[in-house]
Amino acid sequence: MTLRHILIHPDPRLKKTCEPVSTFDKGLAALADDMLATMYDAPGIGLAAPQVGVMDRLLVMDCVKEEGGTPEPMVLVNPQVVWESDERSVYEEGCLSIPGQYADVERPKMVRVTWQDLEGKAQEQEFDELWATCVQHEIDHLDGVLFIDYLKPLKRQMITRKMQKLKREQARE
Ligand SMILES: [Zn+2]
Repeated sequence: MTLRHILIHPDPRLKKTCEPVSTFDKGLAALADDMLATMYDAPGIGLAAPQVGVMDRLLVMDCVKEEGGTPEPMVLVNPQVVWESDERSVYEEGCLSIPGQYADVERPKMVRVTWQDLEGKAQEQEFDELWATCVQHEIDHLDGVLFIDYLKPLKRQMITRKMQKLKREQARE
């Protein structure tokens, strides 16, 4: 298992649409393992492949946050939202590619998602609350959409400038 480098916004790879996964091999399983390890290490509750520079439709998540809670690692390949509730909820979102920045984002409270597991088998499940927000946030990444894209332009520009400054500082280290 290898910890992968997480790309920081702004980065052109975070703005691209990812390609569907068609090969379900050991390489894909190893990538999912690496992504889960990277996510837990960060720590975060979700990570999408483009965040580690892999332009494939794959994401991992685990929204169990309680101290001592049993981990529920999930790997979703080619995920798709097939239904969303009219009811909406607001969560303060953050992103491992936009460290230290948080903002309220409104999304459907519940979603039904289809995906393939690491063997390529079709899966379907309904997600609610934080899991629903997380899965929508991660699927957005596969289409080059970040949570700050839902914010007012001024706020988005402010966050982007902070990230540019952070990256300049990191480059100097
Ligand atoms: Zn994110």
